[in-house]
Amino acid sequence: MVERISRNIDRIRQVVSALGASTGESRREITILAVTKGRSVEQIREVIAQGIADIGENRVQEALVKYNALPGPRYDRRLKWHMIGHLQTNKVREAVRIFDLIQSVDSPRLAQAISKEAGKINKQQDILLEVQTSPEKSKFGFKPQEIAEVFKEISCLPHIEVKGLMTIAPFTDNPESSRLYFKLLRELSDNIDWRPETRDRRPETGDRRPILSMGMSGDFAVAIEEGANMIRLGRAIFEN
Ligand SMILES: *Cc1c(COP(=O)(O)O)cnc(C)c1O
Repeated sequence: MVERISRNIDRIRQVVSALGASTGESRREITILAVTKGRSVEQIREVIAQGIADIGENRVQEALVKYNALPGPRYDRRLKWHMIGHLQTNKVREAVRIFDLIQSVDSPRLAQAISKEAGKINKQQDILLEVQTSPEKSKFGFKPQEIAEVFKEISCLPHIEVKGLMTIAPFTDNPESSRLYFKLLRELSDNIDWRPETRDRRPETGDRRPILSMGMSGDFAVAIEEGANMIRLGRAIFEN
């Protein structure tokens, strides 16, 4: 298992670095988020040992068990926990306690609940707005045409920082079919008037772009070509 994970991560890094170099823009930093739903604490330790510092979970309950075994910066100072699944308002209190970035904010009501709970523990909660870029009914997220308004509204909440956008493309065997959804997310982001705090996110590398979280195991190369700077990988890391 250990060899498989390290082999997979090496291969992913090669693809990422090859694509990063070929986009022609100034070299951009791409965060690999390990999606660990259904994986064990041992497997998570292994990806952390390979230098991955961003861990994504879909369910608060499952994340809590793992977080308690590997409590963020107290386990490893680089470690960041990401919520990437649909979040119900009754789970917000615990989510705000453990997650560094909540990527799946899909309603103003949820954003308000997050801000309220974050305020109680004196936290500025970083979030992404989830966009439903494809017409698929099963997906959560804001409609593309409402995102500009929603951004304005939500970024006024006192205990929230909107750091970027996230989308999930429909499942398919053909990565090219995701391209238009990734392109759309990039365009939406380019049209948002991001706050200076967001643009200064990584002063150490000079990367001033908002987060664009898009691309999974089947289509991350296409996502990077379309401007992703965070890719969320489960199978590509843990499976053959
Ligand atoms: C499961 C999941 C992923 C990872 O999917 P893989 O195909 O295993 O890479 C990424 N993002 C979200 C929101 C997920 O639920």
